[in-house]
Amino acid sequence: MAFASGHSRRTVVGVVALLALAIPTTSAIAATVPVDPGPALSAGKVIIGTSQNLPSLEVTAAWNIGSYAAPQVSAYYTSGQAAIDQSSVTKAALSWTKNWVNRACGSQKPAKVKACKAAAVFDIDETLLSNYEWISTLAVPFSYDSAASNTANSNCTTPPIKATVALFDAFKRLGVTAFLITGRSENSRAVTESCLAKSGITGYSALILDPVGNTQNAGDRKADQRQALIEKGWKIGPSVGDQISDMSHGALGRGFLLPNPMYYLP
Ligand SMILES: [Mg+2]
Repeated sequence: MAFASGHSRRTVVGVVALLALAIPTTSAIAATVPVDPGPALSAGKVIIGTSQNLPSLEVTAAWNIGSYAAPQVSAYYTSGQAAIDQSSVTKAALSWTKNWVNRACGSQKPAKVKACKAAAVFDIDETLLSNYEWISTLAVPFSYDSAASNTANSNCTTPPIKATVALFDAFKRLGVTAFLITGRSENSRAVTESCLAKSGITGYSALILDPVGNTQNAGDRKADQRQALIEKGWKIGPSVGDQISDMSHGALGRGFLLPNPMYYLP
């Protein structure tokens, strides 16, 4: 169960769970995803997820599942199973976070939670906004197309993921400050801010993007960006994302892993 953290960054990336393309016939229940952090790590952070994610396959670059499995991946979304799994994870995140603010702030009163600088981190793509529709209708479904991605971002054809937006709003009511840490480039700040607002995602404290010219992978960069928040006095409880790299290398209380059977990002 242990995962990530500390000084041995390169050893991390355990394979999370398996890609379960077969569509479950019953509702998923959020469960702890077993992650092997390797022998160099003796302690780490638990991740809660549903196992509907791609394994790393030992690759160090992003990979896309491609068209071979397109019918199964599409069925996962169109059957409603993705929404069920998303809701399962976000419910677990809210439950855990309510207990965490009690521990971290000594109260669940919003004013006290806010004053003690309790924070949550959200990723954007496949976390708050869905890319399923445009990726599934590419000439080669579930491949990567940077031009199509830029168009989708610019046109905001990335609908909000209801369960995660509800979690985001619940955190606001609880007094937990939200930060968005995304793999989108700093160059896309304006279109991203516009789309978030159009999608009803407002009131976050900061939108933290991938700096232009950055060479770090997502896991390393996002951990550094969370650590920078901690050094400013924020207490980070949940980190909510669709990739292990949204919750690797510590600087968080617990990872909540939403399903993404479409692509993997290190
Ligand atoms: Mg994402």
